[in-house]
Amino acid sequence: SKQIELASRPSGLPTLSNFKLTTAELSPIKEGEFLVKNLWMSVDPYMRGRMKAGKSYVPPFQMGEPLEGGCIGEVVESRHDKFPAGDIVLGNLGWREYWKSTGEGVTVVDPQLAPVQAYLGVLGMTGMTAWVGLHKIAELQAGSTLFVSAASGAVGSVVCQLAKAKNCRVIGSAGKAEKIAWLKEKGGVDAVINYKQTEDLAGELAQLAPDGIDVYFDNVGGDHLEAAIEVMNDFGCCVECGMISIYNATEPTMAPRNLFKVVAKRIRMQGFIVVDHMQDQKEFIQAMAPLIKSGEVVWEESVTEGLEKAPQAFIGLFNGDNLGKQLVRIV
Ligand code: NDP
Repeated sequence: SKQIELASRPSGLPTLSNFKLTTAELSPIKEGEFLVKNLWMSVDPYMRGRMKAGKSYVPPFQMGEPLEGGCIGEVVESRHDKFPAGDIVLGNLGWREYWKSTGEGVTVVDPQLAPVQAYLGVLGMTGMTAWVGLHKIAELQAGSTLFVSAASGAVGSVVCQLAKAKNCRVIGSAGKAEKIAWLKEKGGVDAVINYKQTEDLAGELAQLAPDGIDVYFDNVGGDHLEAAIEVMNDFGCCVECGMISIYNATEPTMAPRNLFKVVAKRIRMQGFIVVDHMQDQKEFIQAMAPLIKSGEVVWEESVTEGLEKAPQAFIGLFNGDNLGKQLVRIV
């Protein structure tokens, strides 16, 4: 079975030489086990944190072991009652062709509801992150004004549409003309900022939100967070979902220079990790499934073909290559 390991721990932006493709022998499955052939894998910004040696909120990847991450596969051989051959399952052993399991942490997905890879995106971890951040963390009120960074990405694109479904005014930022066009035409946002084409993010945001913003959904950190604090209304909320702009930093980064305004404006800033909210997964699916069926929430995928291209797809997240959910098809 082909798999991808770390060849070395990246310093700064990862390069292809940090990864290597290896082959592992597959031993036969035992009673109570099943074998899965991966069809899709997810690449996610948080994986960058696991490539560092130190512990974060998830343990680091081990050298000499295949990387891990969300994946969708088909059970191709089974000696397990609950996971017969033919089931399509969601697991956490991506970055490889095949994996064996006893079923722990593995769920069967319903291919009738949506294409199976959607369980890695809009109906999966990134969609749920958007939903948890808006509804459980920000406790979003109808009519609020939101600013969303990395707005055309997997999480951001769902945030924008869920907020529109709640009659909010949404301002999104992204770094490419193609993404700006998507946000306007398909994402339904009210205003967009191409942050790569402005010297004054806070000034542009203030112009687009003359009455201020009530919620900032932070995927980026850094200059975007600073701009959001600047334009935030009193008692507003910063939902701290991620800070991709600093994931490759080799030195500790500056806090927003205007952090005192969090005090002056009584801003609530709250970080969250979606896996702490798994008890709400049913509620999420119940809320999201009708929205995708009705077309109120649409989603995009950027698909890279072939396991051996997964490192390239991962690095692309930091160059803004993807529109919507970045996936790798393993066939
Ligand atoms: P995306 O699909 O949004 O892909 C990453 C995007 O980030 C890129 O396409 C790029 O878009 C943007 N980006 C990359 N580098 C920078 C930079 N230096 N400055 C500004 N924008 C940048 O990824 P996800 O939707 O999977 O993740 C989005 C965020 O959510 C990440 O911060 C991630 O860590 C976080 N996250 C948090 C979770 C949680 O539980 N808290 C769970 C899942 C994700 P652009 O063209 O707009 O620059």
